[in-house]
Amino acid sequence: MLIAFTDGRRRVCGPCTGHGDPYACPRCASPRSYTVRGLCDRCTLQDELDAVLGPAAEAPDGQYARMRTALAECDHPRTALNWIRNSYSGRLLASLAFTGRPLTHDDLETLARSGTRGDAQTIDYLREVLVAYQALPERDELPARIERHLARVGERRPEHALLLRPYVRWSLLPRARRAAHRRAGLKHRIRWAYTRINLAAAFLTAMRERGLALADVTQHEVDAWLASGPGTHYEVRDFVVWAARRGHSRDLLVPHRPKADPEGLDEDSHWEFLQQCLTDTALPLEVRTAGAVLLLFGQHVTRIAALPADALATVDGHTVLILDRTPIRLPEPLALLLTKLTRQEPPGGWAANSPRRWLFPGTRPGRHLSSTVLARRLTAHCIPVRPARTTALVQLAQDLPPAILAPMLGLHVITAQQWRRRAATDWTAYLEARRGEPVGRQATR
Ligand SMILES: [Zn+2]
Ligand SMILES: [Zn+2]
Repeated sequence: MLIAFTDGRRRVCGPCTGHGDPYACPRCASPRSYTVRGLCDRCTLQDELDAVLGPAAEAPDGQYARMRTALAECDHPRTALNWIRNSYSGRLLASLAFTGRPLTHDDLETLARSGTRGDAQTIDYLREVLVAYQALPERDELPARIERHLARVGERRPEHALLLRPYVRWSLLPRARRAAHRRAGLKHRIRWAYTRINLAAAFLTAMRERGLALADVTQHEVDAWLASGPGTHYEVRDFVVWAARRGHSRDLLVPHRPKADPEGLDEDSHWEFLQQCLTDTALPLEVRTAGAVLLLFGQHVTRIAALPADALATVDGHTVLILDRTPIRLPEPLALLLTKLTRQEPPGGWAANSPRRWLFPGTRPGRHLSSTVLARRLTAHCIPVRPARTTALVQLAQDLPPAILAPMLGLHVITAQQWRRRAATDWTAYLEARRGEPVGRQATR
């Protein structure tokens, strides 16, 4: 800041006249403190960390010491400072450090199970920060959350524990573990497991109210229960199949949930939406890119939100998007947009302090944008989330055999086959007409 004049009336800054910068940090001389003679954010953060972690951080190489170092070096000290001072999880960390006991995932889990759901959320948030800042190793979230949910249901319905526990241990958990090495879509898979546990409990409760143990239930009661409830009741199939196979029940039948006929966008609006995503600079960049991937490749929003940063790659000089290990060559306009997205400043908060791992970084440490938030943003800009998926699927289905199509889109092979058959009857003529037209064309009517 030029605050003074020399004898020759030239404007100079304070230090040049021999006065120190009053806004410089008195400890590290960084020019960025907010108050005269106040410490800068980073020095304040270091003091705060010392106060909060206290003697716990003194053991060199201890978990608190690692966390202290990593946090003190983060890119945006103000974010960390706000978190420590103002958040529930920050205060929880202070009280945990105060006990002087080493922190473990198991202790946090015990704490999470003993409190309310809100407490558990605070603890899970703290866990994410502890993992992101190296105080704790990563853990498999999915099995841990499933166990926690089972424990909660078991408290409410202890009479079902004898059936639910082996169902979860030997059927749900192994399947969840097999999927657990893929971090993407964690929330979706947690909900998948919770739904199955809840429905199994609801089914057992309904039968018990009729005075029936599972072994006595007949097909008649199953049908009546399915017919009386919402369509989600069909998801009890997973439990019923397991119970029958293990000899806990008679041979009971639950059909797959009847699905409504998929509804596609009509072809013109599909191309118009795509055109808008590729060219409309008034839309936020993440809406344009996510929308274009959705419309072109029919990817589910949960998958788009969880795309890692290295899903965008260059192969033989072409920009590709790697969807489930399959590199797909991108049309030029979308390649440019996605490249721009990766160079964009991450959103505020924790994301700014984490190494960039996701195409769509979220505001929580090390996490991608949640699919709910992404879907809401797309919808807010009039990009239809579900019908768009249908249309793009139909188009992809034209060119790919189901065995390749299915894993790429996260579909069951049978479903992929059905899509393909539908595509063959409805869309051949349309695709014929479109063949050879570049993606970036102007929409015409
Ligand atoms: Zn100067
Ligand atoms: Zn300083």
